[in-house]
Amino acid sequence: MQTTILTNQSVLPLTCSRTGTCCFGKTIFINPWELASISQEKKNSPKEFRDLYCEAGGIQLLFNGTPDQKGQAACSQYKVGVGCTVYQGRPLACRLYPLGRQIQYYKAEYIYQGDQFPCLNDCAEVLELPKMSVGEYLKGQEVNLFESAQDEYLVVMQNIANIGFELLLETGLSTSGDTKTLAAWRALGNETPKQLAKKIGQEWLDCLMLPDIAFDKENPISFIQQHNDLLLTKAQETFGNIQTLQALHEASVLSIAVALHLAKALGSDIKGISEHWIETAKSFGAQE
Ligand code: SF4
Repeated sequence: MQTTILTNQSVLPLTCSRTGTCCFGKTIFINPWELASISQEKKNSPKEFRDLYCEAGGIQLLFNGTPDQKGQAACSQYKVGVGCTVYQGRPLACRLYPLGRQIQYYKAEYIYQGDQFPCLNDCAEVLELPKMSVGEYLKGQEVNLFESAQDEYLVVMQNIANIGFELLLETGLSTSGDTKTLAAWRALGNETPKQLAKKIGQEWLDCLMLPDIAFDKENPISFIQQHNDLLLTKAQETFGNIQTLQALHEASVLSIAVALHLAKALGSDIKGISEHWIETAKSFGAQE
């Protein structure tokens, strides 16, 4: 699909016509800090919110509300006549819509997908409304803290993946002639979020999505750094005393599965990421 890259100065029909079509039939991923944010707004605990309104282990908002005229289900947080019931705590994907955000060479770019601006598909009347620049739109949507959270979790994702690399490359597993670990990493890149959640298991899912850390909506970085430490401590406790090559293989695959599940929560292309990690591991001597 065609991607259009924007600058902060790009002027677009970003003013909402309030016909409410953008909360139907979408796939919205949320990271652990966003789960804490949205559940606080809902006055639920993160666990309650996850169990009631999410799927795929808590990384995806459930769309099971009353369908629109096209038969597309509404987001579980959408109420007819009210709109979004968690507006102040809504995740980054909702704040950015209809824009997307991609990181290229450590630089964030704003984009939209398709031949024409997405709002025009369902809300052509936006053309009648005042236009605004991308920069003005992002400011109005208060994206800053949510973007910081997204970027900090990318660091956590890589830290967890690094454990998978160490278990493969620094333990004798790869020099033993192992070929099945990279094959398993590749298979993980093709899994759906629900399949990945199943592979990871409840204990790791809870550690990933429900860290026991006080939520401070003004300070995602502190929350995420504490979360990073919790995840690395759990990995150390779980994988620190492994004795067999089979157990090393399983631990490496599990680490990569957890990292990819977090990548999916960040809306990333997990197939592309897993392929990149496989090529990196091969460059350090791993075989497939
Ligand atoms: S969280 Fe709110 S803004 Fe986002 S899709 Fe659901 S109802 Fe719409």
